[in-house]
Amino acid sequence: MNISKHHPLHTRTIKIFRYDPCVNGEGHFDRFETEIADETKTTILDVLIRIQKEQDPSLSFRYACRVNMCGSCGMVINGREGLACKTNVADLPKDKEITLRPLNHFPVVKDLVVDMDPFFKKYEASMPYFDPTEDLTEPAIIRPDSKERRIIGLATECIQCGCCVSSCTMVNYHDSYAGPAALNRAFTLLADSRDGLYDLRMNQVLQSCYHCRTEFNCTEVCPKEISPTRAIKHIQRLALKKYARGKRQGPLERTEGAIQAIQTDLPCGRSGASEFPESPERRRFLKQATFGIGAVSTLALGAVLGTAAIGPSIKKTPKRWIHLKSMEALAVGKVSTVVMTYDVQNGFHKSRVSKPVMIVRQLDINNIVVFNTTCTHLGCTVHWDENKKLYVCACHGGMFDQEGNVSAGPPPRPLDRYAFKVEDGHLFVEVV
Ligand code: SF4
Repeated sequence: MNISKHHPLHTRTIKIFRYDPCVNGEGHFDRFETEIADETKTTILDVLIRIQKEQDPSLSFRYACRVNMCGSCGMVINGREGLACKTNVADLPKDKEITLRPLNHFPVVKDLVVDMDPFFKKYEASMPYFDPTEDLTEPAIIRPDSKERRIIGLATECIQCGCCVSSCTMVNYHDSYAGPAALNRAFTLLADSRDGLYDLRMNQVLQSCYHCRTEFNCTEVCPKEISPTRAIKHIQRLALKKYARGKRQGPLERTEGAIQAIQTDLPCGRSGASEFPESPERRRFLKQATFGIGAVSTLALGAVLGTAAIGPSIKKTPKRWIHLKSMEALAVGKVSTVVMTYDVQNGFHKSRVSKPVMIVRQLDINNIVVFNTTCTHLGCTVHWDENKKLYVCACHGGMFDQEGNVSAGPPPRPLDRYAFKVEDGHLFVEVV
């Protein structure tokens, strides 16, 4: 074990849920003690791997990418859902043991490993695939700053980790509830003007939206800063708008026969609305709640929802300057990685963004570059490799030279750069 000269060892107690299907029973917690040299550079996943290697090889947990993009290592950490590979030990309360549990609402396979089948069945039933309208002329150009793209926002970044589903109390009460992740995915397609399956998709998911009680738990825990709550409210808003316009046939206005006819035509053998069966009472309630209140009240409700739940988030957010570091703290002629932190208001919800940026500083103040660490291929995190003298994306082999230009791998364009300014000896970058 490498022990840093600069960091004293800290002993942490990790309490981990254990369940062995060969033993059965209710499961129990085991405690492990582990010494950590630098908690700021040690994730919960690092800790689990060490415990498995050094103390108990039978400990089971799931992981793959280690860089917050595969969604495999979702678990409940000190009572809150998160990715083990994204949670630093230093961010958990000191002098308290760390508790690790498997995700809620999923069958436990072993220890921290859950069966994700129920998640993906519901995800699949919400029709998560894109099927373009017939008259689409490819390539469809959607500008990143267009209103449509801004409304969809971060929702396309979902990695299907299941954290949101685990945090949602409504999942526990409604077997038929599609859950936040599936509804978030449906939203990204319903809000896409190229979507050729709008009516069918809406039919699949609208009823499920009414199980949401706007608790924001999913939004609080999502490791990708997505707000499934906003997505759910947006689906309801789309349905209300459509009804108010009266241009298309409302999804709940379809006859059962028509729905069944559509289900038999679903591509890829996907099943239809029966994946989320609703009782007749619930259907009647939903129908009345959504379509029975008349055009005037619908418009009013739509306006309220639009303004209160969604409006603030689709307004163009003003650009802001975020403080990074004092210039003195940035080494000249080197690449420094600094984590910038700022708040983002998303409707009612305020979330905190923590994102690393890479700063190349030369003596000349006009010779500073601040690179975005997001790989332009699939959004993985890029880091500076001092040996290779390249910016490297560990996941898909993407590499960028010192100017940020692509030197290897699949990235389609150079690294993005932040606008910056230096004031009173401090460096600031502009974020939207
Ligand atoms: Fe995970 Fe967020 Fe996707 Fe839910 S919405 S599955 S929490 S990434």
